[in-house]
Amino acid sequence: MKQHYDAIIIGGSYAGLAAAMSLGRAIRNVLVIDDGKPCNRQTPFSHNFLTRDGETPSAIALAAREQLKYYDSVSFMNERVVQVEKAHDGFDVITDDGKAVLGDALLFATGIRDILPDINGVEACWGISVLHCPYCHGYEFRKQETAILANGEDAFHLAKLLSQWTDRLTIFSNGPSLLDQEQRALIRSLNIAIVELGIAGLQHVNGHVNALLMDNGESHVVHAAYTRPKFQQSSELPFALGCEALASGHIKVSGFGETSVPGIYAAGDNCSPMRSVANAVASGTAAGAFINMFLIDRKLALL
Ligand SMILES: Cc1cc2nc3c(=O)[nH]c(=O)nc-3n(C[C@H](O)[C@H](O)[C@H](O)COP(=O)(O)OP(=O)(O)OC[C@H]3O[C@@H](n4cnc5c(N)ncnc54)[C@H](O)[C@@H]3O)c2cc1C
Repeated sequence: MKQHYDAIIIGGSYAGLAAAMSLGRAIRNVLVIDDGKPCNRQTPFSHNFLTRDGETPSAIALAAREQLKYYDSVSFMNERVVQVEKAHDGFDVITDDGKAVLGDALLFATGIRDILPDINGVEACWGISVLHCPYCHGYEFRKQETAILANGEDAFHLAKLLSQWTDRLTIFSNGPSLLDQEQRALIRSLNIAIVELGIAGLQHVNGHVNALLMDNGESHVVHAAYTRPKFQQSSELPFALGCEALASGHIKVSGFGETSVPGIYAAGDNCSPMRSVANAVASGTAAGAFINMFLIDRKLALL
């Protein structure tokens, strides 16, 4: 017989672990299934999460896992979920190792995968000196020579935002700039240069960028670069189960983490553009509480 849980949490990083704590504290039988690939795993230090500022991403997750040991009803499986089917009274969950478990409710805390710009060196520098968020890493690179690897609206937004952290900013649009006249004027007033040459690659040492190399052989000194990568869901299973998506590609959820399919919840990066450990923890905590209420209501409806 399949092991049965009140809730199965797919994805055991910050959002999933926070939900596990809410549910563990509600004395719910919970299984967290995780395949250990959080989006920030390449970043050396995580910032802007109260009490854990500057710790490694894995230390934060490890501390959470340690604290969850206190809750007997929370258990873990280190595997990838490859299939989920709606069962008569819940959800059948199957892992890549062929294990099958049954849950009354599901939480997808599966995160997203960044699709980095196809520029030599970006992948190696990702999270180290090629960054997506100044609140996470901007302070460490304040007042330093900084490149914006973006064009159009993304470049405009990053330029305005980053001008708070450094006045040594250059937009590298990797081809003709798509900024309109008004945007160009504002960028000029902030003393931000625009380089429209093609980018040949980043020169770096162990992920620490030191120069941007252009197609024509020019080289620009750079200590940090920002980009706004596109993304894909780390797991498409919510959509296969009928959960609605937003135009942005995020899973559509209510303020309580409910997806459009009853009994299926989502939390963290997969349903929010506000990417941060704090936000993932907040939404996971809330989703755990609302899953508990869903389970209470479901039981009462059967009386
Ligand atoms: C490079 C980088 C640096 C960052 N730096 C910071 C920072 O300094 N401060 C900050 O606050 N935020 C930072 N962030 C943002 C922060 O890391 C994310 O917002 C946060 O990790 C989101 O948590 P999550 O639990 O939603 O997803 P994730 O942390 O991405 O975790 C998702 C988990 O689900 C698992 N998973 C996915 N699919 C399956 C499946 N089918 N079966 C089993 N498991 C599955 C994955 O293996 C992973 O463990 C950074 C992000 C990046 C990319």
